[in-house]
Amino acid sequence: MAGHGWSDDDDEKGGDTKDKKFFEFDCASCNANNPWPDGFEDEDEVICHYCGSTLEARVSDEGKLKFREI
Ligand SMILES: [Zn+2]
Repeated sequence: MAGHGWSDDDDEKGGDTKDKKFFEFDCASCNANNPWPDGFEDEDEVICHYCGSTLEARVSDEGKLKFREI
């Protein structure tokens, strides 16, 4: 058994919005626009640089970005 810890070979079919990456977001708390050069995707946490809120990114099935304050 080779140490294949994770499955990295998911078939990437077109239109899987859950794999979409975002590189900026509008803060759900103060509405500031934050660039996020590293990119984030569904269920990643981001922090507003302006008000310090921690937000959990949620990508809907339609590929729409939403945030939950945590
Ligand atoms: Zn904010």
